Amino acid sequence: MLGWLGPVLGLGLTIEVAKSGQIIDHDMMTNNIAGLMTVLITAFGSHHESKKKAERVGAAWQQKRDKLAAGEVLPAKHHCPHWLEIENGAFVVLKERERLVKMIFANRLKGIGKETTARQFNELMKTDPAFNTWGRGKRKAKYWTGTYVGRILNNPAVMGYWQPHTHPRGGERKPIGEPVMIYPQLIDRATFDKANDGRLDAQMRAQGKGRAVSNLFGPKARCGRCGAKMDAMGSARVRINKKGEKHQHYFLYCSGNKRTKTCDHSLGWSYQRIETPLLDALLERAMDDQHFAVDDGCAELEMAVFAARRDAKDAAARLKRALMVANNIDDEEAAEAQAVIVGERGKESTAAKAALEQAEENLATARGKVSPAEHVRRVSEIRGMMENDDPEERYQARSRAKAALQDIVERADFDDRRGIVTVRLLGEMAVIHIWRNGRVGYLDLVHPQRKSVGASSEQQEVIDRFIRRNQKAA
Ligand SMILES: [Zn+2]
Repeated sequence: MLGWLGPVLGLGLTIEVAKSGQIIDHDMMTNNIAGLMTVLITAFGSHHESKKKAERVGAAWQQKRDKLAAGEVLPAKHHCPHWLEIENGAFVVLKERERLVKMIFANRLKGIGKETTARQFNELMKTDPAFNTWGRGKRKAKYWTGTYVGRILNNPAVMGYWQPHTHPRGGERKPIGEPVMIYPQLIDRATFDKANDGRLDAQMRAQGKGRAVSNLFGPKARCGRCGAKMDAMGSARVRINKKGEKHQHYFLYCSGNKRTKTCDHSLGWSYQRIETPLLDALLERAMDDQHFAVDDGCAELEMAVFAARRDAKDAAARLKRALMVANNIDDEEAAEAQAVIVGERGKESTAAKAALEQAEENLATARGKVSPAEHVRRVSEIRGMMENDDPEERYQARSRAKAALQDIVERADFDDRRGIVTVRLLGEMAVIHIWRNGRVGYLDLVHPQRKSVGASSEQQEVIDRFIRRNQKAA
């Protein structure tokens, strides 16, 4: 069983055990044989039984797939996606619905949330029947919901894929085998992947549920005494008093004091007096290209990255399958033949990874071309939009600023005894002090080669970009 493992790991590839998510790599093979054995025994222990079952189910689906590939017509009861119809055994795209699918994806890439899209459709539905909900009879919903929009967003059928599933009684719905390309493609793979990217998700979450992104600190704001979250209270609405001054009744309080009564920190912090100095000190450094609109002239390169990422993922999956087959062969000759295949797949996977790195580099280079002056201009544009009277513009700007701050800020401690908020950045790159009277101090701790202990790869990316930005500004 271990015969193929050495050479494969030697290529620098890693293997993830599907069941447990454990990673086997070359380092483990050389330094931690005991650990490796434990992982392998758990991973392959019950393998024989499930293999037999999988073979039976797999064979049935393979037959089905072969038939489809040979041009056989699907059964009439085949549940095809709602934007398609079966006519004489062929799929026909319903043009009006195709438009809706495309709008859903376009909205998502613009950073418009699922709920908002659903609301938009419900509004349009009142005057335009093209926006009616889908489904037939009892299954036809009355209104669009965020959940339904979300299901369309992550349905591979928009790319043309049909994924067969098993759904045993009382059991969990599980995909069987690989998806088959049988439907017309409405959305290309790169767009699909971008729309389903985790980073975008995080950005959307940072926007909060309401339309007003009032508290840019979110969960990063902490009580300096007890560490509990600082809650925003009052109304974020800006009022103008008789003297024509802008005024906001919006404060941050320790939730340990206000809610659980476990903390003595009863002081209310005027939100605006903290936000403004923080944005002054940090926004220009915190905002990176990815926080601006997609339309920065790099959309194509960005799509290329998503396409390459998908290719790399596919190649890795093919390699994994080849390895699984290799693991099950008892016949020596067949094993040798399979070993050749594994080698090929390994090379393909390595090549796909290299292509991905290249695509990422191309994008980074192109984005790096934004001059520091241009960057400053874009950030001040966002700052301006944050004060805009148009709620949509304000929302877009504030959610971008929030996403940027949430990326870079590790935490903000509110110390009532000293009257200072201490904002620490990820990887200890800087510390910002904001006094209650609005005075602000920025302590730059950037070291060019900083690698943060314990930072995830995503965090390290944020740190690297921040350092790049800092060097350019200097
Ligand atoms: Zn507290």
